[in-house]
Amino acid sequence: MTIGRMAGTGDGEAQVIADVRQAVNLPRREASSLHLPTAATRLGPSVESTTRGPILMTRTRSHWGWGWADRWPDDAARAAFAEMLSAMRGLRCEPRPPVELEAIVLRPSAVRAVPPELADVVSTAREVRLNATWGRSFSEIVRAFMGDFAPAPDAVASPRNADEVAAVLRWAEAAGLAAIPRGGGTSVTHGVTARPEERRAGVVVIEMSRMARLIEVDTVSRAAHIEGGATGPRVQELLGPHELCLRHYPQSWEFATLGGWIVTRAGGHYATGRTHIDDFVESVTMVAPTGTMTTRRLPASGAGPDANRLVLGSEGTLGVVTSAWIRVQTRPRYRSNISILFSEFGSAVAAARALAQSNLFPTNCRVLDPGEAALNQVGDGRAVLIVAFEDDLPTRDRLEAATALAMQYGGVAPSGARHRESTHEAAANDAGAQWKDAFFDGPYLQSLLVSFGLVADTFETACTWSQFEALHAALHAAVAPIFAELGGGELTCRFTHVYADGPAPYYTFVCQSSHGRQLDDHARIKRAVSDVLSAHGATITHHHAVGRLHRPWYDIERPPLFATAYNAVRATFDPAGIMNPGVLTDPE
Ligand SMILES: Cc1cc2nc3c(=O)[nH]c(=O)nc-3n(C[C@H](O)[C@H](O)[C@H](O)COP(=O)(O)OP(=O)(O)OC[C@H]3O[C@@H](n4cnc5c(N)ncnc54)[C@H](O)[C@@H]3O)c2cc1C
Repeated sequence: MTIGRMAGTGDGEAQVIADVRQAVNLPRREASSLHLPTAATRLGPSVESTTRGPILMTRTRSHWGWGWADRWPDDAARAAFAEMLSAMRGLRCEPRPPVELEAIVLRPSAVRAVPPELADVVSTAREVRLNATWGRSFSEIVRAFMGDFAPAPDAVASPRNADEVAAVLRWAEAAGLAAIPRGGGTSVTHGVTARPEERRAGVVVIEMSRMARLIEVDTVSRAAHIEGGATGPRVQELLGPHELCLRHYPQSWEFATLGGWIVTRAGGHYATGRTHIDDFVESVTMVAPTGTMTTRRLPASGAGPDANRLVLGSEGTLGVVTSAWIRVQTRPRYRSNISILFSEFGSAVAAARALAQSNLFPTNCRVLDPGEAALNQVGDGRAVLIVAFEDDLPTRDRLEAATALAMQYGGVAPSGARHRESTHEAAANDAGAQWKDAFFDGPYLQSLLVSFGLVADTFETACTWSQFEALHAALHAAVAPIFAELGGGELTCRFTHVYADGPAPYYTFVCQSSHGRQLDDHARIKRAVSDVLSAHGATITHHHAVGRLHRPWYDIERPPLFATAYNAVRATFDPAGIMNPGVLTDPE
């Protein structure tokens, strides 16, 4: 989920952007200063204690938008940015504040009594329920912004260990409650919020913030056993003292969790090679209503269907991932990168395909169309191909070979290549700086655009190289009349991942709308583009998961017999059908 940085051309515009970025960037915390929630801060997933120097700070997550509440820009910065967008992009912006937390009305909890043994684990407090209500898809952000928390869960469980998870599931089953596991709540596919017809006698959300410990490290085999509620910074903090890292960096890294990554099959930001969480899972433990399943630690196995693969992508429908052994690495020492400009987007695509099929395996191989390049303030109005290598061995030769190959498609590289050799310490700083700079601002910007009454969202897919051109043209053809009718909009594209047989194109759209119309306008565009993906044989999601939002198109994509088989698996782990109903399949 990336919305770009909305760059423009003039100096005044650059200053406003800088002001807004500064407003949303401060205060920033260091990744290494994150700590487990303590009893004092146990308010569900929205609050975390942080040390900055000698001061213990408690930071609160926004109750409606992306990220930390203290990064919401002030009225003046928002007004200036809205004015700039109106002037430069012709978008009518109407900045409004979100409905305040205190003003939100929550219906009473349907849970009347919590078993005494879970008194320390389960909360029905208003703010805890409120903060465990929504994920962070566009429509959820809009509804939360408007103060609509109708789907709030009736109770929130914060277990401390696998036994408590099992106890919560026993209680949920006996009480007829739907159980929804929740990691960072960064789902963009309605994965953590039940629809009215799925609520049963009520809903208990099982949030994992108290299960974020390192259980064991095997430095010989380079693997670590970590609990499912650990966020990206927490995983880094746990592995740092062992001079190891996971190197899995989805854009939601700061808040999303290991368990969430595993069950949504998250994709990291590297374009080729080991980047999906699937590649890093060695063994997994999942607590289900019928029991606990722990897979054997193995580097590989041909012993029948892979039990890890059953859990990967299960999206909370089978059980709760309480811990996993993950394959870890040392930090790379050498880095090389280059930006290559192309007059034609099609030439950049052809160059990326040549690289993906070259066996050079660049760590990054990112195509940005001219609109996307402008949004991200790179290039000069042309399409851009960013190529990067990171390795323990020198990367210069491979970058030179990749550049020579890309140049054959008409690319030019006015800024030349960059090569760096890092110490471990410098590399740690580099990694932090990288994700912060490249990934961090976009989601905050999306929340800002929501508050202006605009539609701003992303969608992603994967298709074969032979399908891409027609798919890309059809997507533009589908949105153009809608944008025209709504008063203007833009669709931009980049490749997040490339494979030998096809790319994973990632689209951003920003379009005119108004407060009160955003949900309808967004739904229209989302439906149109999803229909095109489906009709062209592309996938409804390369890494954002299925959830409830993508169900209509996932139901077409997966073979009918597979749904029957999956439901049989579901019934084995969860005969009463309490686990995340409505996600992936409807049990028969
Ligand atoms: C700004 C933004 C950027 C994003 N960038 C990326 C990206 O780069 N790559 C990517 O792949 N995704 C991305 N996403 C989507 C999302 O972050 C991923 O799907 C992520 O893996 C979800 O992790 P989470 O811990 O937040 O899970 P949640 O959002 O809490 O839950 C997601 C699903 O997993 C289930 N679940 C969560 N934890 C567990 C558990 N321990 N056991 C069983 N089920 C569980 C939930 O029930 C739900 O179905 C992005 C989202 C946002 C908002």
